[in-house]
Amino acid sequence: MKVDYIVVGLGLAGIAFVEELIAANKTVLVFEDHSQTSSLVAGGVYNPVVLKRFTPVWNGAAQLALALPFYRALEKKLAEKFDVTFSTKKVFKSIEDQNNWFAASDKPLLAPFMNPKISKESVNGVIAHYGFGEVLGTGRIDTEKLIQHYRKYLQDKASIQFEKFDYNALKFAKNTIQYKTIEAQKIVFCEGFGVKQNPFFNYLPLKEAKGELLTIHAPKLAIDFLLKSTVFVLPLGNHYYKVGATFNWKDKTSIPSEEGKEELVEKLKKVITVPYTIINQTAGVRPTVKDRRPLVGVHPIQQQLAVLNGLGTRGVMIAPTVAKNLFNHLEKGTPLAIEIDIKRFNS
Ligand SMILES: Cc1cc2nc3c(=O)[nH]c(=O)nc-3n(C[C@H](O)[C@H](O)[C@H](O)COP(=O)(O)OP(=O)(O)OC[C@H]3O[C@@H](n4cnc5c(N)ncnc54)[C@H](O)[C@@H]3O)c2cc1C
Repeated sequence: MKVDYIVVGLGLAGIAFVEELIAANKTVLVFEDHSQTSSLVAGGVYNPVVLKRFTPVWNGAAQLALALPFYRALEKKLAEKFDVTFSTKKVFKSIEDQNNWFAASDKPLLAPFMNPKISKESVNGVIAHYGFGEVLGTGRIDTEKLIQHYRKYLQDKASIQFEKFDYNALKFAKNTIQYKTIEAQKIVFCEGFGVKQNPFFNYLPLKEAKGELLTIHAPKLAIDFLLKSTVFVLPLGNHYYKVGATFNWKDKTSIPSEEGKEELVEKLKKVITVPYTIINQTAGVRPTVKDRRPLVGVHPIQQQLAVLNGLGTRGVMIAPTVAKNLFNHLEKGTPLAIEIDIKRFNS
């Protein structure tokens, strides 16, 4: 079998890159072994404002301008709904917080997204002594649903194999690569935290962070916006909410933990006052990077191998942009911006 590309890993990075290939009529075979869960469990939220500091997300507006049409096109192609729009309400902790919000909302990069009005509304069951600041144009991609439907779409085209990619089975020829019975022009690795097992790219400095989420049912809570306080409370409909997320830099498993649950339950006490039941708990490892920029580019020696990784905490917004950057680099020779190019880590 001959293909233009092999893609290893079908999370948000893999989907975005495969979409570039399909749009350019390239042939592709994907390998996916279900070893990582980051894209599956993600809150899926997109928001161009950093709510800890009231600063713009790096290249956020440009990423969003590409990402929203990207997910809309996938909705059309797969005849499913993935994008749920809502506003985000940040709970202020102090008067100083309110003042900082007001000042930030005047800045050119933030003004389109931050409502300068401090909202003092009272929301049943929500603790907000200093009111809320509203972020506009935010929402959520149902990443689990997207991935399930995209995997099925590739399966129907016989373009995906559900097995672990075996790095030791690669053989390099002059302009091609042989992988078992498959001959490919290039391989793009989109393995998330799985890249640690990849002998070609495991030198890249991931500073991975495990994250856990709870799904709760709170019959007396009726909010249709994303509540951002000590934790976020994300509406799923019918009084179901996702609550998250934790950051753990030690545990590298995707297994939900008692420690994660307790942390979220404790923090939630400071956010809502109504009773709830825990329905589910999920976990995954975010592929975050030391310098908080993505890992994109070509292997320093084996030029047929490329990597698309390091999407960090914002895979939904950033994946379509960096997939396009990598595709244009590989196919058209367009240089990669140095801040995302893995060359920055070549010694
Ligand atoms: C709790 C939590 C909450 C989050 N919330 C948000 C959010 O609200 N918004 C947001 O934008 N981002 C969020 N993120 C971050 C987001 O999930 C990541 O940025 C993104 O999912 C990374 O995508 P990826 O495709 O690079 O990696 P992954 O999703 O990890 O995908 C890699 C894929 O490669 C496969 N794989 C690995 N090795 C191999 C191999 N050898 N052979 C075959 N297959 C292999 C894995 O099984 C996996 O499917 C969250 C993450 C977590 C953990």
